[in-house]
Amino acid sequence: MLKLKFLLIFCSVLFCVKSEEITGHPIQLLNFNNENKTVTLTEGSLEKLFLDPLVSDREVVIVSIAGALRKGKSFLLNYMLRFLYANYRSLANPTKVINETNATNWLGDENEPLTGFSWKSSTKRETTGILFWSDVFLYDSPMGERIAIYLMDTQGLFDHLSTPTDNIRIFSLNALMSSVQIMNIFNVIQESDIEYMQYATEVARFTAVDDESIKPFQKLIFLIRDWGSPDEYDYGLKGGNEFLKAFLKIKDYHTDELRKVRLHIQKTFENVNGFLMPYPGKIVARNSSYDGNWKKIDEDFVDAMKELIHLIFEPKNLVTKTINGVAVKAFELAVYIKQYVELFKSESLPEAKSIYESTLDNQFQILMGKSVEIYLQSIQLYQNNITKESEILSLHNISKAFSLKYFDQEKKFGNSEESLIYQNELEGKLEKAYDEWRPITLEFLEKIKVEQEKADKQKILA
Ligand code: GDP
Ligand code: MG
Repeated sequence: MLKLKFLLIFCSVLFCVKSEEITGHPIQLLNFNNENKTVTLTEGSLEKLFLDPLVSDREVVIVSIAGALRKGKSFLLNYMLRFLYANYRSLANPTKVINETNATNWLGDENEPLTGFSWKSSTKRETTGILFWSDVFLYDSPMGERIAIYLMDTQGLFDHLSTPTDNIRIFSLNALMSSVQIMNIFNVIQESDIEYMQYATEVARFTAVDDESIKPFQKLIFLIRDWGSPDEYDYGLKGGNEFLKAFLKIKDYHTDELRKVRLHIQKTFENVNGFLMPYPGKIVARNSSYDGNWKKIDEDFVDAMKELIHLIFEPKNLVTKTINGVAVKAFELAVYIKQYVELFKSESLPEAKSIYESTLDNQFQILMGKSVEIYLQSIQLYQNNITKESEILSLHNISKAFSLKYFDQEKKFGNSEESLIYQNELEGKLEKAYDEWRPITLEFLEKIKVEQEKADKQKILA
């Protein structure tokens, strides 16, 4: 009898819907020093996150959340982690087979404590900076897109201790680094919540792309927690968008600055959404011994949370990071991040123009690198077919044409004058490459010629 009872308990533990194992931990990428106002980058974290061979060549989805302390950001991120672990493979477990039942029931057991990013920490400020979840999620779409998904948390910012410049810096770095930027706001949007977006919209204005439909940043979500007027605007995306539309309307009493931000926000982001979250209930909000299980969360909140998480993370809704209309790979983003941190290092903010210029330069350097590669691939492919000297120049010209065509098709950024400067630089690089392989091929031809003559002589003698 005792044996049977034991067996029953064992089976129930084995077969209950338990969420997938969480295999990562938070790692700090950027650190903000409040005293001397500097930003520092942890290079080791950058390498781990973006240069691992399993992810470096993938396009990226980077979801960031920012807002004041103790407003449920990490709590929400941890439920996002549950969805991600149930629905995707990850760096820690790249061969995992997705279990459809677990993927659908990603919330897992209702009593399971919430783990992941540290949440419910004290009201005291901890380290200030930008953290990432160490495990990166992997998605290969049926169309062949290979994507890496990252979660990013901001700590100790947008509170009474941070200055307007601090907030501008964080918001802008967040916008530059992420593809989905969630602004976690409590109760109601204040004018100050959009004031610090002014600088980012300024950066965007310098994006002198010929094509106006290309926006510098992708998705911005104003996530309003503990929304108190569901009769006026309903919970979720629909009510949130209606509320946001009303908020972004220009009113007579708005100062010039506030008008400008309102006007430019739409031009800065491809997509701006509002989302209204209900109050999660007294236990979540107040009980210090609460462990995060979803049994104790109000049903409305769980429903809205599911809507939000599906909206961001379902494969068909993933938003990949683009810079000036070009998809960015993980290893490329690492270069951009390094560059942005350099720009934001000093106490004063960098000029919006310099951010644009350095982004543009980086983007052209990457494109030139790829174009040179195309040239070299073509040379490698046909080099062995060369039988006489004149063919060397022909191969160079054909390969150069391939390379320049690629450059021209891919460039989606900068105005024509700027791209011409880089095109000339590319042509210079190709000529230099030609100068390098031409003598080697000539030498090779000469060697063959000598050998051929030798063989011919031997034939005659024989
Ligand atoms: P963070 O500092 O913004 O990351 O906040 P945490 O995620 O650490 O959560 C701080 C506290 O807020 C915890 O006690 C949570 O249980 C609670 N909490 C989580 N979500 C919400 C919410 O939507 N509303 C309220 N009022 N409290 C929440
Ligand atoms: Mg937190």
